[in-house]
Amino acid sequence: MKYYSTRDKNVSLSAAEAVKMGLSRDGGLLTPTRIPQIDRAFLERLIPMEYAQRAAKVMVLYLTDYSEEELLTFGRNAYGPAQFDDPIAAPVRKVEDGLYCLELWHGPTSAFKDMALQMLPQLLSAALRKTGEKRTACILAATSGDTGKAAMAGFADVPQTCIQVYYPKDGVSPVQERQMVTQEGENVDVRAVIGNFDDAQAGVKRIFSDEAVRAELDKRGYFLSSANSINWGRILPQVVYYISAYCDLVRDGALTMGDKVNFCVPTGNFGDILAAYYAKRMGLPVNRLICASNSNNVLTDFLRTGIYDRNRPFHTTISPSMDILISSNLERLLFDLSGENDAEIRMYMDALGSAGRYQVSDNIKAKLDDAFWGGCCSEEGTEETIRRYWQDYGYLIDPHTAVAAEVLAQYRVASGDETPAVVVSTASPYKFCGSVLTAIGETPCGDGLELLDQLHAVSGVPVPCRLAELKGKSRRFDKTVEKQAMEQAVLDFLK
Ligand SMILES: *Cc1c(COP(=O)(O)O)cnc(C)c1O
Repeated sequence: MKYYSTRDKNVSLSAAEAVKMGLSRDGGLLTPTRIPQIDRAFLERLIPMEYAQRAAKVMVLYLTDYSEEELLTFGRNAYGPAQFDDPIAAPVRKVEDGLYCLELWHGPTSAFKDMALQMLPQLLSAALRKTGEKRTACILAATSGDTGKAAMAGFADVPQTCIQVYYPKDGVSPVQERQMVTQEGENVDVRAVIGNFDDAQAGVKRIFSDEAVRAELDKRGYFLSSANSINWGRILPQVVYYISAYCDLVRDGALTMGDKVNFCVPTGNFGDILAAYYAKRMGLPVNRLICASNSNNVLTDFLRTGIYDRNRPFHTTISPSMDILISSNLERLLFDLSGENDAEIRMYMDALGSAGRYQVSDNIKAKLDDAFWGGCCSEEGTEETIRRYWQDYGYLIDPHTAVAAEVLAQYRVASGDETPAVVVSTASPYKFCGSVLTAIGETPCGDGLELLDQLHAVSGVPVPCRLAELKGKSRRFDKTVEKQAMEQAVLDFLK
């Protein structure tokens, strides 16, 4: 299996090279040249398997320069009991008949990014070996909260890699900050940027394009790499849980093999729902993919009109991981829907860069209508849904999951489609204690780790052990950095 760029089909890379590079040099996303097909027999074989085995069986279809045995080892490291507090890693929970939640937050940082970021570092480390790379890969990440911690947890002490994370000093929740500054591992570093998330992100982008810094790092035996969801090594592990969820629904009698299912996904950068789309394209019996947004509803408008327009106000919401106006992974979807037309994609992305807007062809729009439905949810709707799930089902969900649950309800009313549906649950409610407490009618007392106890006291839901342990952990990192001084911070770290 080869990989090419959504902006240039003449690029031809192995999977290992694609994982190592992250992004194509032309700015396009590296994408498999064909989509492997699975059938009923394949799904039947997965049903009795543990999650790591399912992951190896699915991933080897795309990663043909990795062995299934190797991927199984990675899977056991990534999703084993040392990392995940549920033996199934990504369990499906029944809410009521025909309505299920796929819980993706049983990993070390209590958010769904663990599903991919426990796997990516191992894929990357192996890719360095396979491509004969002698230098150390240094991951630089700016984070608004979830990605940085999940990436550090994944890369901690992985050979031939290191990671430096930048977060906005006053821009992350107390739980998120504590998670980051207590991170263990000899190859990790964390800095608080004096500024907001955009400052941190702009600083990281500047470093990536700074030839002098790159040359100096090369001399010291390092090269820069990225762990965000433009890397194919982050999308592929996410394909696995859609297929795994289907197998579990069949195993538990909620579906008969071959029955269709809908997935409703709380969406930001379009990585998670893109993985669902690949699962559908591989032959998983999926009817509709429902794309849920918060008030930053650029995708809802896009799916309804075929016009992507980022020229709109940015809203800060209680589902912050979806506060995003440019969904990078949409490019991979458009590439597939256009019949792999790299020239057409270049045109759209040029227009996005210059005017912040593009309109897709009628052909693409028709295909979008066929596979997707988009909806959005206000802040009040999010809180109401958290309250409703708690009151009606005794099930505590986080704000991101609530956005998806509400949009699914909208879809069912609008379409009359009663296909069994899975809401993708992307974070533990304990990551967003303040918003969840308020939504269920409590007044948060304080704003730090004490909220974990308060939410536990009123709900009785167990606190994920990694979050509970934070109280006893000592701070390892306390460096701040001015936004102009980030280049120096990288050079200080990579001595
Ligand atoms: C990152 C994130 C999302 C959005 O996922 P994308 O792949 O960026 O669309 C949703 N919910 C949570 C909790 C997240 O951390």
